[in-house]
Amino acid sequence: MVKAIVGANWGDEGKGKITDMCAENADIVVRFQGGANAGHTIINEYGRFALHLLPSGIFHKNIINVIGNGVAFDVNALKSEMAEVNAAGVEFKLAISDRAQLLLQHHILLDTYEEERLADKKFGSTKSGIAPFYSDKYAKVGIQVWQLYDEESLKEKLKGYYEKVNISMKYLYNKPEINYLEVFETLKEYAAFIKPFVTDTSKLLRDAIKDGKNILLEGQLGTLKDTDHGIYPYVTSSSTLAGYAAVGAGIPPYEIKDIIAVTKAYSSAVGEGPFVSELFGDEAEELRKRGGDKGEYGAKTGRPRRVGYFDAVATRYGCALQGATEVCMTCLDVLSYLETLYVCTGYELDGKVYKDFLTTADLYKAKPVYTELKGWHTDIRGIDSYDKLPAEAKAYIEFVEKEIGVHISMVSNGPKREEILYR
Ligand code: GDP
Repeated sequence: MVKAIVGANWGDEGKGKITDMCAENADIVVRFQGGANAGHTIINEYGRFALHLLPSGIFHKNIINVIGNGVAFDVNALKSEMAEVNAAGVEFKLAISDRAQLLLQHHILLDTYEEERLADKKFGSTKSGIAPFYSDKYAKVGIQVWQLYDEESLKEKLKGYYEKVNISMKYLYNKPEINYLEVFETLKEYAAFIKPFVTDTSKLLRDAIKDGKNILLEGQLGTLKDTDHGIYPYVTSSSTLAGYAAVGAGIPPYEIKDIIAVTKAYSSAVGEGPFVSELFGDEAEELRKRGGDKGEYGAKTGRPRRVGYFDAVATRYGCALQGATEVCMTCLDVLSYLETLYVCTGYELDGKVYKDFLTTADLYKAKPVYTELKGWHTDIRGIDSYDKLPAEAKAYIEFVEKEIGVHISMVSNGPKREEILYR
């Protein structure tokens, strides 16, 4: 059985916690897109971790964790992340796709220089090299893992590759050029380091499906950051949709039977772009301070996240594009301080109310239409069954469920693994 856990919104919905929790019954957990720009926060018996590249199944000894072919694979980031989790006593099994594409240090430099060049027109990139990486991948000039093991042709390839990279370095950004022979030496080291883990992970997964194993596909970011369907151009450079998991993991699409879309009980976003139900000033600061497990600050960058009321229009769209079969709502406990809650149920544009998500320029102009609901105004952490939630909290969940049109099967009322209420 293959299950995908994906984001219904702008990312940071709490997918890491839900993946770690669902991993209890899984045999394999797979990352299928994105790179070390993710920040999945997990709190369990080993401590608090912000995983960037490693799948969230690493805390379960018998699980195979797969870095799929669709991932922007930064070996340097993997090395430091592995050192960090190993130091905390975590031991895990890892498999790396022989077709995964390598994110190299110059991608990070180009990402950083480009944001500097764009100045006030910047994208709000995490500067992890993701956009230059995927540009190279689709321009077919990048390097897949298997290419590391043919040194002569690798050296030749790097020579031509860096001739082009250095034109940008020198003439566009006025920065030092890169010596391809130094990159070659680094790649030889990388090749040796990852060798024990490299395999045909698509075959591994297809065989596992035949054997009836449980596979979790772990998404990064959310629908609204999808390259095609998100708030373009303020999106990420890979598809964040469950549909893409088939490509990024190398399995048949019809094998994905269950798609859990994760959404927060309010909205949060990082980076630039339109955000219709965004809050500002003191109201935003209060929610930001109380959000997540340590406030709404990026797990990767530490930058303050933008926050707002729950956006049912965006989430309905987010769930529809994911093909969600069920929804998990996280961070319900965060809203306990509010006496009155607001849910954005429509976008007003030029005197008309829209129930469907819009394209970017219209989103910038749209004003939120809110439905007011009564808050529960009491601490709900520690409550261990859905039935025991205050009536107002249940009413909030049921209202949201009706708006987004997908069953909310799980509600998270705290950041810890066990803080989950099933419906
Ligand atoms: P991801 O990238 O989707 O895994 O999300 P992040 O880890 O970046 O952000 C989610 C934040 O919410 C983290 O700080 C989590 O520890 C936290 N979190 C997850 N579920 C809950 C919850 O139910 N309540 C609270 N208060 N925090 C939660």
